[in-house]
Amino acid sequence: MINLETPPKFAPLIAQARHVATEIFRANSRKYDRAEHAYPRELDMLAAMIEGLSDGGALDGAGAGAVGGAGHDGRHNGRHAEPEAVRNGTNMASLLGLIELCWGDVGLMLAMPRQGLGQAAIAAVANREQLQRFGGRWAAMAITEAEAGSDSAAIRTTARLDGDAYVLNGEKIYVTSGARAELIVVWATLDRTQGRAAIKPFVVERENPGLKLERLERKLGIRASDTAAFRLDDCRIPTENLLGSPEIEARRGFGGAMQTFDNTRPLVAGMAIGVARACLERTRELLAQAGIAIDYDAPPHSQPAAACEFIAMESDWEAARLLALQAAWMADNRRPNSLQSSMAKAKAGRTGTEIALRCVALAGSVGYGEGELLEKWARDVKILDIFEGTQQIQQLIVARLLLGKTSAELK
Ligand SMILES: Cc1cc2nc3c(=O)[nH]c(=O)nc-3n(C[C@H](O)[C@H](O)[C@H](O)COP(=O)(O)OP(=O)(O)OC[C@H]3O[C@@H](n4cnc5c(N)ncnc54)[C@H](O)[C@@H]3O)c2cc1C
Repeated sequence: MINLETPPKFAPLIAQARHVATEIFRANSRKYDRAEHAYPRELDMLAAMIEGLSDGGALDGAGAGAVGGAGHDGRHNGRHAEPEAVRNGTNMASLLGLIELCWGDVGLMLAMPRQGLGQAAIAAVANREQLQRFGGRWAAMAITEAEAGSDSAAIRTTARLDGDAYVLNGEKIYVTSGARAELIVVWATLDRTQGRAAIKPFVVERENPGLKLERLERKLGIRASDTAAFRLDDCRIPTENLLGSPEIEARRGFGGAMQTFDNTRPLVAGMAIGVARACLERTRELLAQAGIAIDYDAPPHSQPAAACEFIAMESDWEAARLLALQAAWMADNRRPNSLQSSMAKAKAGRTGTEIALRCVALAGSVGYGEGELLEKWARDVKILDIFEGTQQIQQLIVARLLLGKTSAELK
């Protein structure tokens, strides 16, 4: 039997995240939407809170420049190692915490100190010594390049072995928290002739003189979260900063580390679910103020079109939420979840964007104006359907998995 109740053990975590979302995120939402690139000082006060959430499992090494999931090998899942198959652990805690935080403000959540997608890669492939050096530090992730977005195998940044150092050269764009994080996990190729197997993650200290900040992007949404572009100019790093094996193994390498995203995609789905819930809640209030009551028992023809539409959006939202919960639960139980993770991200990214825009429309001119956060949420939510794999790429992954095709067979 499927139990759709939220596990009671997560109630304190959810309450804590909701408190942060209300008191700090919502309270500063508009301020940092307007002051793009200003550092949200209020988040520093969260350091202790983050530790608390982290201890509760909500924020371990996470998603798209954000919070999240345990290593694919389950190393970080061990903390909640109940033997039975109904285990709800770090992935579920992260998802539930993120939904609350993003109900508050997804941009500020992405800007939270000490978080970052880089930690997901570190957690997944670092050895014991690297975990000690890098674990718990604020780490951004730099995969994307001008010619390598969805097709990350096209990475051109190179890493050349030179004595006891690797020398990195290339350009990275769209690095979430790139100018604020302490570490950047840079993906570079050891040998461009050997394709994706030669692509490896390298940890670069942000203060490294060979890592040059080119610019911060000005964006449609999530303006509280900085997005950086870098140039790597003969950037020397110790050989011990390569994460995982230096061997170029055709069958593992890149693919193995990319599985990190099976755990982080449900978390990005959770971000969209949080923003969409904020939209739905506010729209319900605005509809009520306009005298439109939502009656779940009445047939569609007997209530206003706006109420019918609202109910349809809620059911779509619930479907997205359940898919994300399923994918996170599978990760906690060490079940292969590539299919469910991509389904969850595709569904939530699309549904979140649609709900936010429909809520703006339902609220009319009020929804479009800066007097409401609805217009901001409609801008913020879009990125959740783009980063960590776009809508189209998630659908491609789902199709490949369902049809049993390789990436070479179905592009
Ligand atoms: C605000 C922001 C933050 C980001 N943060 C990070 C970060 O921290 N680290 C990082 O490495 N990257 C980050 N990214 C980059 C992000 O992951 C990429 O933008 C994304 O993967 C898409 O790549 P692209 O922009 O090059 O688009 P492209 O890959 O050029 O795609 C353009 C369009 O074509 C579609 N498309 C591409 N290939 C196919 C195909 N085979 N079939 C069908 N359609 C296809 C895409 O879905 C998209 O609609 C961030 C981006 C943004 C905007």
